[in-house]
Amino acid sequence: MFSPRLIYIFLMLILLNACAHPGFNQYPLSKGYPNYRILPQEISNLSHTNPELIRHRIIGFSQEEKLPIYVIEVGSGERNILLIGQHHGDEVLGTALTMHLSRRLVQRKKEERVAKLLDEYTLWIIPSINPDAWQMVVDGAARIKRKNNRDTDANGKLDVRTDGVDLNRNYPIFWDLDQETNVLSPFYKGTAPASEAEVQAVISFGRKVDFELAIFYHSSATGSLNEKIFLPAVQNRDERFERLEEIADFYAKQLPRDYFKGSYTLHRGLSSKVGNARNFFYHGLETDAMLVEIGGINKDGRSIIHPPDKILRKILKRQEKAFINLLEYLLR
Ligand SMILES: [Zn+2]
Repeated sequence: MFSPRLIYIFLMLILLNACAHPGFNQYPLSKGYPNYRILPQEISNLSHTNPELIRHRIIGFSQEEKLPIYVIEVGSGERNILLIGQHHGDEVLGTALTMHLSRRLVQRKKEERVAKLLDEYTLWIIPSINPDAWQMVVDGAARIKRKNNRDTDANGKLDVRTDGVDLNRNYPIFWDLDQETNVLSPFYKGTAPASEAEVQAVISFGRKVDFELAIFYHSSATGSLNEKIFLPAVQNRDERFERLEEIADFYAKQLPRDYFKGSYTLHRGLSSKVGNARNFFYHGLETDAMLVEIGGINKDGRSIIHPPDKILRKILKRQEKAFINLLEYLLR
């Protein structure tokens, strides 16, 4: 039989495990998160030290502040995959993840399995298409800043809480079906399809490269969508869509939840018929596309989109592992 001492140790271990990751949002953000101001330097350092593996370019500029939108090209393979780390300014986990992947894949280039992937694929990594809002969030000016900085109520100044276009509602496929015309809404779709410079940049870049897969990282401030993968809206589940479901389901299972046991899940219900990036890539460019909500939900049911550094590092490590597994899965 177990001694009382052993049982005590066992109970303490369970308790410690339960308390290990209380999960809270930090704000202002620590230096553990990428910062738009040092991004260009970081990207060019990466390219200069690994010219055979990394290149970078500017694909366009933001609507209001005219800040450059960067893409980092990692690897030298013929299969192209697009990763966009951020559409919404406060969803900084995706910028952290995409920068982390850029660095780590190069650091690990000598490992046989990573070398093979860098030989098979070229990853096109855009840390953020919304630098205007991202910068405000990183600077501590606004904890929540989803949309870009367009003066949508035309009062001549930026109203941080209400101004802007939701860049993930501004793509041209299904744009006309979206009812969100209130300029103050967090989901405002803009005055016309692809009215925003950020979205125009992604569209023309998307047309230049033949992507087989595009992944868009988000994190939901309300928590209702977190730790799920969402696919494009389709009329029928045909063969192509079923294959995409398999890929997304595999990826979801590789992604452990942040504060609970178990893994991410693939959302199999209806998907919104609005002008979002995944609908545009899937229907407009014939690129398989998915949205991954990488914020976690803590034990109190609260959404953690700005986790403290220690948890952030752990999340990035797990995401890195899952992403590498996904790339290998696609080679099968
Ligand atoms: Zn988002």
